[in-house]
Amino acid sequence: MNRFFVIISLVLFLLVIISLPHHCFAFEINSEYAVIEYQSKDALRKFNRKLYLGRFKFNLRKLSNDTIEDEVRNKIDFIVEKAMKVLRMYLPELKFRIMIHPSKKGVKEDFKRIYNIRVNYIAFYSPSENKVFYSANNAELRVVAHEIGHVVAENYFEVSPPQNIHEVIAQYAEQHITD
Ligand SMILES: [Zn+2]
Repeated sequence: MNRFFVIISLVLFLLVIISLPHHCFAFEINSEYAVIEYQSKDALRKFNRKLYLGRFKFNLRKLSNDTIEDEVRNKIDFIVEKAMKVLRMYLPELKFRIMIHPSKKGVKEDFKRIYNIRVNYIAFYSPSENKVFYSANNAELRVVAHEIGHVVAENYFEVSPPQNIHEVIAQYAEQHITD
């Protein structure tokens, strides 16, 4: 009887473990400027594939790019430094967060959570969380650079620039990231 009870408890315990939402277990990469979060290695792999640096691949060759984590870390730090240079807003101490969702769905859900509005964005920056939300499927260099432009602008000025100016700054970073 007692043994039967133990077995039942064990089965129930295993069922609970299996049914826990998997996004509880997120991964993190610490780069020079960002803490990069993602929920699956697959999302990170997709993000890395989409974020193609073109001729700037060259700049990463000196660094260790042994793993996908290394590659993503190096690409993000490169883009942050390039955005600062383009904008002439240097922030050696900059720290912000990045969340990589597998698709737009997660980006939309986070926007809804923070602003309580439904949008169809492929990426956005939340100044209150100092965090950028990306969709791995849509992580082209220009998209990634645009949001990092917002990060740099927000962290550079003591008082946040008005929204339209914020946008102009981000667009400038996006347009000139490949200069
Ligand atoms: Zn923008």
